[in-house]
Amino acid sequence: MSDTKYGFTTTILHNDRSKSIEQGSLHKPVHTSVAFGYNDARQLASVFQGKEPGFRYGRQGNPTVSALEDKVTKMEDGVGTLCFATGMGAIGALFQALLKSGDHIVSSSFLFGNTNSLWQTVAGQGVDVAFVDATDVANVEAVLTAATRMVFVETIANPRTQVADLARIGQLCRERGILYVVDNTMTTPYLFRPKAVGAGLVVNSLTKSIGGHGNALGGALTDTGLFDWSAYPHIAPNFRKQPSQAQGLAQLRAKALRDFGAALGPEAAHHIAVGAETLALRMDRTSSNALALAQMLEADERVAAVHYPGLASHPQHGITSELFRAAGSLLSFELVDSIDPFDYLNRLQLGIPASNLGDTRTLVIPVAHTIFFEMGAERRASMGIAESLIRVSVGIEDTDDLLADFRQALDA
Ligand SMILES: *Cc1c(COP(=O)(O)O)cnc(C)c1O
Repeated sequence: MSDTKYGFTTTILHNDRSKSIEQGSLHKPVHTSVAFGYNDARQLASVFQGKEPGFRYGRQGNPTVSALEDKVTKMEDGVGTLCFATGMGAIGALFQALLKSGDHIVSSSFLFGNTNSLWQTVAGQGVDVAFVDATDVANVEAVLTAATRMVFVETIANPRTQVADLARIGQLCRERGILYVVDNTMTTPYLFRPKAVGAGLVVNSLTKSIGGHGNALGGALTDTGLFDWSAYPHIAPNFRKQPSQAQGLAQLRAKALRDFGAALGPEAAHHIAVGAETLALRMDRTSSNALALAQMLEADERVAAVHYPGLASHPQHGITSELFRAAGSLLSFELVDSIDPFDYLNRLQLGIPASNLGDTRTLVIPVAHTIFFEMGAERRASMGIAESLIRVSVGIEDTDDLLADFRQALDA
C-alpha cells in the first residue's frame, strides 16, 4: 500500500494490513503475552542483540503497541514512534533519556499544568528551564545559551489557547541545531503536522483526541526524521552505531521506556487504535462545534472573554488559519463578575464537569480551582489564567443542542 496515494483516514484504516495479517484479523489482535518465546535459543540471542527484529519482553515492545506506533508514525509523517503509558510518560522520557545536569531548555510558559509541574521538578534536578512567551520567537531567541538542548512548545496551549510562533521557532532551532519538540495534543496530526515547521520530535497524548473516547491512557513520541542526532551530545556510544535518524528513538527506547518502564499496555493500545480510525471525522465535528459555541459566547454580553483561535479576535488567529486545518476542540471563557462560574457549570445539562480533553462528550472545568489550583494565584496570573476561567473540551454532540445548553445556563 503506497502511503502518499491515500488520504489521512484511508491510510490509518488500512495501515494494519501493511504488515502480516494474523488469521485474517482486520484489526490488530490484542497480544497480552508479556514474554515472546523462540524455539531456537540462538534466535532469542540475536533478537536481544538487535541483529534481527522480534519481540522479547513487553516493557520494550509488543505487537499490538507496535501496530499503533506504526499508525502514529503515518499520522505524523515521521520515521518512527514510541508509545508510552501516558502523555506525561512520553514527555518525561525527554528528560530521562536526553537531558543531563547542566543542560538548559527553553519552554513555552503557556503549558498543560502537569508539564509545567514536570519542568519545575526537572529544574530541581540540574536542568535549567527558561519559561518564555512562545507566541513570539524573539522571546525564545533572547534566552538561548550554549547549553540549550531543546525548545519545547505546545501548538494550541491548554487552557488559554495561545498559539506558539511555530514556524519561526522551527526556523530558529534549525539555524542553531537545537532539538525542537512540539506537543501536538491539542491540534492532533489531522489538524497540523509539526514536521511542517521543522519539529524534530512530536509529542501526542493519545489519551485525548487520538484515542478520543475517554477509555484509555496513552502517549507517544514521534521522530520526524528532521533532527540530526549525530550532532546531539548525549547519545551513548552504543546508539551511535545506528544511522543518525534512528539514534534518538533508540536511546529513548532504552533509557526511558526500558529503564523507567512507562510502557503502554496492549489493551489500551487497542482502544486507542480503534479510536484513531475516526480522528478526522471527530476533529471536523468538534472543531465546527467549538467555533459555533465560541461565536455564540463572544456575542453575549454576559461573557467577559472568549479564547478560541478560530475567532477573528484571537491574537494568533492569523497563524491558526495559516497552519491548522481547523482550530480544534478546546476553548475557554470568562463570565462577567456577577455570574458565579460554579453556579453556571451546575446549570449545564450536557457539559459535564470533568477533567479530560478530546472526549466525544463535552467536558467543562473551572480551571483556577482544579487543574491549576496547586500552582497558586501568582503563577496563574503570569500564565494569563483568570480566576473565573472555564475550560471547555467540545464534544461531538449535535451543534444546536450544545449551543442551546450553554445559552440556557446563561439565561437562568
Ligand atoms: C493531557 C495532556 C498531556 C498529558 O497527557 P496524559 O495522557 O494525560 O498523561 C500532555 N500535553 C497536553 C497538551 C495535554 O493536554
